[in-house]
Amino acid sequence: MIKYMALGLTIIGVIFLLYAARPTLKISTTESHRGWQVLLALICFFIVGYMVYIAVLLSVPNATVINLIMASILFGGSIFVVLVIYLSRVTLEQSHQVASQEQYNALHDDLTGLPNRKYLLQHLDRQVDDAKTSQLSFAVMLLDLDEFKSINDTLGHFVGDLLLAQLASRLQDRLAPDIFLARMGGDEFALVVPDADPVRINSLSVNIRNYLREPFDIDGHMISISACPGVVYFPTHGDSTAILLQRADIAMYMAKRQKLLLVTYDTGMAAMTKKNLALAARLPAAIAQQEFELFYQPLMHSDNQQIFGVEALIRWPQPDQTLLPPDLFIPLAEQSYLIRDITRWVLQTGLRQLGEWHAAGHKITLQVNISSRDLDENTLSGFIVEQLHANNLPASCLTLEITESAIVRNRTQALKILAELSELGVCVSLDDFGTGYSSMTLLDELPLKQVKIDRSFVVNIESNHSHQAIVQSTINLGSSLGLMVVAEGIENRQQVTLLAALGCDLLQGFFIAKPMDTGACSRWLQDNK
Ligand code: C2E
Ligand code: MG
Ligand code: MG
Repeated sequence: MIKYMALGLTIIGVIFLLYAARPTLKISTTESHRGWQVLLALICFFIVGYMVYIAVLLSVPNATVINLIMASILFGGSIFVVLVIYLSRVTLEQSHQVASQEQYNALHDDLTGLPNRKYLLQHLDRQVDDAKTSQLSFAVMLLDLDEFKSINDTLGHFVGDLLLAQLASRLQDRLAPDIFLARMGGDEFALVVPDADPVRINSLSVNIRNYLREPFDIDGHMISISACPGVVYFPTHGDSTAILLQRADIAMYMAKRQKLLLVTYDTGMAAMTKKNLALAARLPAAIAQQEFELFYQPLMHSDNQQIFGVEALIRWPQPDQTLLPPDLFIPLAEQSYLIRDITRWVLQTGLRQLGEWHAAGHKITLQVNISSRDLDENTLSGFIVEQLHANNLPASCLTLEITESAIVRNRTQALKILAELSELGVCVSLDDFGTGYSSMTLLDELPLKQVKIDRSFVVNIESNHSHQAIVQSTINLGSSLGLMVVAEGIENRQQVTLLAALGCDLLQGFFIAKPMDTGACSRWLQDNK
């Protein structure tokens, strides 16, 4: 009886050891730690030992209590081994799970679940290697969302975050499965498109525009967005991850500046953007130190040649004594909210100067150019009222010049702010009329007092009959809407006579006076009083 009990315990022990040997063998092949191989060797050694003991038990006619105790110890030992292996396996699996979660987190973005910048870099490195051997092209497309900052500013970061998450999942659902989509950070996304050719990329950019345009329902806010992507192709535009990304970034920057649906990198861009980037980097300090200068260009009544007012035109003096014209830095400031600080500086400086001219008896008006981003904020009217008050000026002596494209960008908000300003008595002028949309609806909706016919129609008006016809009909349209019509860019006497005859109310241009600094303008006003 004792013999069979001892035999039974030892055989079960062997079965347990065999049971423990299997996972140990598996782990010892996957884990690098040598201890697992030692453990496996020990288990095999035990199994042999147990077998020997079974043979000993079988060979004796009767087993003793000592044999039974010995078998019990072997049985306990086998349970110990099974438990140790089981618990080690569970702990290993848990730590593997944690490690793979950590690895996932390190390569994915929390908010959208998309691959992050690090993952993108790894993916691109692999893609570059593969493409070098397979000789296949691929494309990298970068896009960042237009006006995302203003969504964050006006609706809050919570809405901004939800928008990013919804947008990411929409793109993921709809993009072809071979496209690798990553979030670079903020509102910037990257796409790596294999087998790319311009036809595929063009239709992709059209699709992306449509996906973004379809409104997102974020907490009851219906938001549709846009983005201007920049694209580079391997190997045409670069054969390394770093160069491809840098050039895609430049292409995207150009697309954004020109508000284009898609821009493909070309070598000319780099030099231009480098210069622009350097300029843009100097802008904040220039604003803080008020490095700008205002020039003033008069506007004259066509009938009696009296001065109506002056337009403030900004210049940025450079260390080499040159004056940087606004076309070279205002568009850079318009990319960010720096333009708001510039506009405020122009309003403050211009209105202070106007106050001085009024005090000196020149009861003229001031025209200030404003950008669309100035109308994104609700505090502009308050600021203007403050400045008018500080300089003891009536609201009617300020005219804000805005272009159609600036209004179209954020129509509802722009119309609201302009209506508010107009109610205060500030005049609104539509600048560069004829170059944008020339929309009749805008003429009707805007609280306009003035429309400025663009210089391009005036420049050769004496000889170009169609320009003459356009100017004539704009003057008729403006007059019948009760607006003052201004012709800008007048460069000779013939143009003055012709425009006066056509019924243009106000004239502006180098022939009347070039933009002048404060001193020169004060003298000019005195001389032409
Ligand atoms: P704009 O508002 O249409 O200003 C008229 C531009 O035409 C000015 O160029 C002026 O110097 C130029 N101009 C005036 N008369 C003549 C002429 O007879 N012949 C020629 N060829 N040109 C003439 P400027 O000062 O370089 O300004 C360019 C643009 O920059 C302005 O166009 C305006 O859109 C923008 N800008 C200027 N100052 C500011 C500012 O303070 N804020 C903002 N947001 N934009 C500004
Ligand atoms: Mg203007
Ligand atoms: Mg203009």
